[in-house]
Amino acid sequence: MFDGIPRQVRVVGTGAAILLGGMFSVSVVSSVTIRTLQAVAEAKRKKYASPCGNCRGKGFYTCKLCKGNSTIKWSPLYDPVVINPCVCPTCEGNRIQRCLNCLGKGYS
Ligand SMILES: [Zn+2]
Ligand SMILES: [Zn+2]
Repeated sequence: MFDGIPRQVRVVGTGAAILLGGMFSVSVVSSVTIRTLQAVAEAKRKKYASPCGNCRGKGFYTCKLCKGNSTIKWSPLYDPVVINPCVCPTCEGNRIQRCLNCLGKGYS
């Protein structure tokens, strides 16, 4: 007599699950598709673009601030006698910085 109600609830629940699952898989598929398309477009651009002149196609160059020393000699203005070597704020001690011309891509 009363078994009609639970069945209805079950149907609604299944429908919601299918809907949610469908939405989830669609979003996963579309993000994968977008990533693939971006990779293809990127490869094409790389093929026809000329290598960046600033970094010679490497995407990075020796840090200009520390000149590849990874530290800079910083002296406080009020005491020019004291010179502290500190980690370069531009490259954070990596000695290289990302090419600002090509944004690290190596080509323009
Ligand atoms: Zn540096
Ligand atoms: Zn570059």
